Amino acid sequence: MFDSLSEKLESVFKKLRGQGVMTEDNIKEALREVRLALLEADVNFKVVKDFVESVRVKAVGTEVVQSLTPGQQVIKIVHDELVAVMGGNEDNGLNLAAKPPVAIMMVGLQGAGKTTTCGKLGRHLKNLKRRPLLVPADVYRPAAIEQLATVGRQLGLEVFNSSADQKPVDICSAAMRFAELNGFDTVILDTAGRHQIDDFLMNELAEIKAAVLPLEILFVADAMTGQEAVNVAGGFNERLDITGVVLTKLDGDAKGGAALSVKAVTGKPVKFVGLGEKLDALEVFHADRLVSRILGMGDVLTLVEKAQSVFDEKETARLQQKLKKNQFDLEDFLAQLQQIKKMGSLESLMGMIPGMGKMMKQMQGAQPSENEMKRIEAIIRSMTPGERANHGIINGSRRLRIAKGSGTTVQEVNQLLKRFTEAQKVVKQLQKLGPKGLLKGMGG
Ligand code: GDP
Repeated sequence: MFDSLSEKLESVFKKLRGQGVMTEDNIKEALREVRLALLEADVNFKVVKDFVESVRVKAVGTEVVQSLTPGQQVIKIVHDELVAVMGGNEDNGLNLAAKPPVAIMMVGLQGAGKTTTCGKLGRHLKNLKRRPLLVPADVYRPAAIEQLATVGRQLGLEVFNSSADQKPVDICSAAMRFAELNGFDTVILDTAGRHQIDDFLMNELAEIKAAVLPLEILFVADAMTGQEAVNVAGGFNERLDITGVVLTKLDGDAKGGAALSVKAVTGKPVKFVGLGEKLDALEVFHADRLVSRILGMGDVLTLVEKAQSVFDEKETARLQQKLKKNQFDLEDFLAQLQQIKKMGSLESLMGMIPGMGKMMKQMQGAQPSENEMKRIEAIIRSMTPGERANHGIINGSRRLRIAKGSGTTVQEVNQLLKRFTEAQKVVKQLQKLGPKGLLKGMGG
C-alpha cells in the first residue's frame, strides 16, 4: 500500500537516523524531502504545506527525549502529524443510533466501487448482528440492479426488489417501508453514479436524502484517482453534506493522496477502506494503523513509545554526564542494565528494528537473565562505594569478601568485572558516535 510514498519516507528517515545530532538544518532538509514525497503522492498542496509546517514547529520546539535519537523523534512527530491529518484516532464508526430502520446512503462516481461496497458494508453489519437490506436505486446503469442482486445472493443478504422503470426516490421510500414492515434495521441505498458531478444527479440524490433522512451518507471514492477523488468528495459534500468517506482500491497502487487529503479538505472522516474486489475486503478505518503501514515502521514506533515511557530522563541525563567525563562506573552499569531490562528482552527489541545498531548487538552478549540480574545486583551491592566508583582497587581479598557478602563465588565476581570492563569499552565507542546517550546506536 502506498509503496512509493513509503519508500521515500523510509529513505528520509534512514538518513535522519544516521545522524547524531539534529540541527534545524537537517530537520529542514528532511522536511523538504518529506514535502516532495507527499506532493508526489498526490497529496493536496495546502495539506502538505500545513503538515510540513506543523512538523517543523514540533520538531524544532521539542525537547529531545534523552534516550532517543533526534531522528527517532522526528519519525514519531511525522507519524503523529500524519495521523492527525487523517482525522486522528477518533472513533469513526457508523452512526446508527436511531429508531430502526436507519438508512445509509452510498453515493459517488461510477466505477468508484459503490455497489461492491454496499455488499461489503452489508456483510460488515450482518457480522455486527444487524439485519441489513440492500436497495438498488441506480436505474440508469443497466446492469447495476442485477449486480447488487448477485452480491446479495453471494452474501446471503436480502435485496429489495426494484426495477429500472421506477424513480430512484420512490424505490428508496418504498424500501424504507418494506424494511420497517419486515424487521430490517439498516437500509443500504446503492444510488446512481456518473462519470462526473452533474446537477441532475445531485438533485436526485438530494431528493432521496430529503425523503429517507439517512443517518449516514457515505461518499465512495476510488483512492487510485488521488486528488481528483478529493475534489469530487468536496463537490458531493457541498451538495449533500456527506457524513463520511469510504476509500476503495487501497489494495492497488494508489499513491496515498486521497487518503491523506480527504479529511483535511472536506472535514469529513474516512470511515472504511476497501482493500480488494472480494466482498470481505473492507476494513474499518484507523488513521494510526494506516500511517504505520505507510511508514512501514509500526514496530519502531512501539519501541519509541516504550523507550519514552520506561527511560527515566533524569537518570539518563545523569549517566550522560558521567559518560562525558569518562566516569561510567559499576553503579551506572547496574542502573543501565536495569533500564534496559525494563524494556523487555533485548532480543525482542532487536526484532523490532531492522538492521539495529552495533551497540545493541554487543550489549546482547552482555544481557543477563533474570537470575543473573539478581546476582549482579547482589554483587555490586556488596561493594563499598569506593569500589563501585573505581573497580581497579578490587583485589583478591576484596573479591573474596564481595563474593561472601553477595552469596556468590569469586569466579562470578570476576566474571562480572570482566563484563563491566567490556561494557566500558562499548560505552567509549558509543561516545565517539556522539553525545546523545546510550541508546543512540539503536537506529542502525
Ligand atoms: P460502482 O459503479 O461505483 O457501483 O462500482 P462497482 O462496485 O461496480 O466497482 C467497480 C470496480 O471496482 C469493480 O470491478 C469492483 O470489483 C472494483 N472494486 C471495488 N472496490 C474495490 C477495492 O476495494 N479494491 C479493488 N481492487 N477493486 C475494487
